[in-house]
Amino acid sequence: MKIVIIGGVAGGATAAARLRRLNEEAEIIIFERSGYVSYANCGLPYYIGGEIQDKEELTLQTPESFWRRFKIDVRTYHEVTKINPETKAVSVRNIKTNESFEESYDKLILSPGANPVKPNFSAMDSDKVFTLRTVEDTFHIREFIDSNNPKTAIVIGGGFIGLEMAENLKSRGIDVTILQKSHQLLNVIDQDMASFIHSKFRSEGVNLLFGVNVNDIKLEENKPVIYADSMEPIVADMVIVSIGVVPENSLAKEAGLALGMKGAISVNERMQTSNEDIYAVGDAVEIKHYITNEKAVIALAGPANKQGRIAADNICVIDSKYNGSQGSSVIKLFDMTAASTGINEVQAKMAGINYEKVILSPLSHAGYYPGAKVLTLKVLYEKETLKILGAQGIGYEGVDKRIDVLATAIYSGLTADKLKDLDLVYAPPYSSAKDPVNMAGFIIDNIENGIVKQFYYEDLSELTNRDDIILLDTRTEYEFSRGAAEGFINIPLDDLRDRLDELDKTKPVYVMCQSGLRSYLATRILNQNGFDSYNFAGGYRLYSSIHYDCLASSNSFACGMEK
Ligand code: FAD
Repeated sequence: MKIVIIGGVAGGATAAARLRRLNEEAEIIIFERSGYVSYANCGLPYYIGGEIQDKEELTLQTPESFWRRFKIDVRTYHEVTKINPETKAVSVRNIKTNESFEESYDKLILSPGANPVKPNFSAMDSDKVFTLRTVEDTFHIREFIDSNNPKTAIVIGGGFIGLEMAENLKSRGIDVTILQKSHQLLNVIDQDMASFIHSKFRSEGVNLLFGVNVNDIKLEENKPVIYADSMEPIVADMVIVSIGVVPENSLAKEAGLALGMKGAISVNERMQTSNEDIYAVGDAVEIKHYITNEKAVIALAGPANKQGRIAADNICVIDSKYNGSQGSSVIKLFDMTAASTGINEVQAKMAGINYEKVILSPLSHAGYYPGAKVLTLKVLYEKETLKILGAQGIGYEGVDKRIDVLATAIYSGLTADKLKDLDLVYAPPYSSAKDPVNMAGFIIDNIENGIVKQFYYEDLSELTNRDDIILLDTRTEYEFSRGAAEGFINIPLDDLRDRLDELDKTKPVYVMCQSGLRSYLATRILNQNGFDSYNFAGGYRLYSSIHYDCLASSNSFACGMEK
């Protein structure tokens, strides 16, 4: 059997290695357009920033090492220019010699990845305006910085690559501004959680400008100048355009393969395209979203690697299926970590799901053991079925672990009330006897059993200034004096039982504290004394993060204008 693979990085290289492990006799050829095979795309920003110092670290595999280990024929600088499904052959151009030839196949795997979106800006091709996808792009950016010593950079787009680039440019001593079209960074998480990221980036000295729709980049006096709606032009020494990717579908399209959303290649659960001898994997394909069952395009390395293995299995007659992607992702943001899995509130609303959410701020490990840090965890679940829909975490320690546990819970169909029962590891340096994931489960259990009712940041604009309710802050007097949400009165939790007669029992009480724990305790006291009460999800910690984000950015959500 002869198998040809187009694209030799995440999906393609994985498929090739699996094929070899399953079939020692097969002839396997990888055509890779760039000069590198199986390179570390995810490490590229860190070479630019200097965290990864040796460029060899990015390209651990070579065509020679692939041949020695796997007897796989890797041809770099070879671009496949056409697929001929009728003759079962591909046309290939050797980029170095410009020679073209045909290569036949029995089975073909497409793993051509995605292309960075490159708008038609006047200076898009300038040597000071960059996108980042390949090793070549990386060296290009690094060489520019090393030789030109730029002082200022604009990053257009605040997604994964934009944020990683902002951090790495900053660590090269460059003054960075991020221009973001939406009103938050990192759209995979919700706006409330993103406020922590905004605060982090500002404290690291990164300028954030939201709601900016860039119209053009022009080269003026040999410097890129950014033109955007309702903003004065901004000049910078360099620009990174990181506004997303589009599936690389040109070969598939020309070969008449079925395409789906965003032009991604349609595949079945065995990663087979509309032509049974052609498989496709990775950023180029349309998959099923594991939560919504809707079609989706999710450009992440985990899915690409798994799909590569599945395509190889099926070619080798092992029945293997891809069940869909949850979009689990994690990102380092200076010394902070943000991670998420499943869907967020925006997606839940779009899917018409009736959801509930919990937001908590537990410590990463036992408070009495040195170094514990607060992390913020948010879990969404479907109201009727208790199906866990998604989770997001932000903090300095232990975020990835909690989101991985929640990702596993989602994948295995665990309902939200069962999170409290998970038997998770504990010793003081690592967690608490009640792990943050268990804590989320306890809150959910309390909500579902009617032990606690919640209210949220987005409810505050309606609640403030109403005289038929009581807004109560149960932090200490000192904490309260240092800042409180508008309209709240202060009765510290430890005084509450003695001061209940100060509260009008006919009015519902909306209670806030720092993290949501003391206010929960307060609601229990209040409810058992005949009051109707509600606990603020996320506590003053979340409130103040969103509130100060509003002051710093005029973010419409943060300013309480959005419902
Ligand atoms: P790729 O790995 O991109 O490989 C496609 C290859 O196909 C390319 O090398 C291309 O040259 C080649 N090719 C395309 N067309 C042809 C052709 N006609 N002929 C020959 N060769 C062709 N994901 C994460 O999950 N976590 C991360 O931290 C993360 N960080 C990232 C950081 C950066 C800077 C980038 C760019 C991506 C990052 N990703 C991350 C995304 C992840 O790298 C991709 O999802 C994954 O590599 C997709 O695998 P793929 O095989 O579909 O495509």
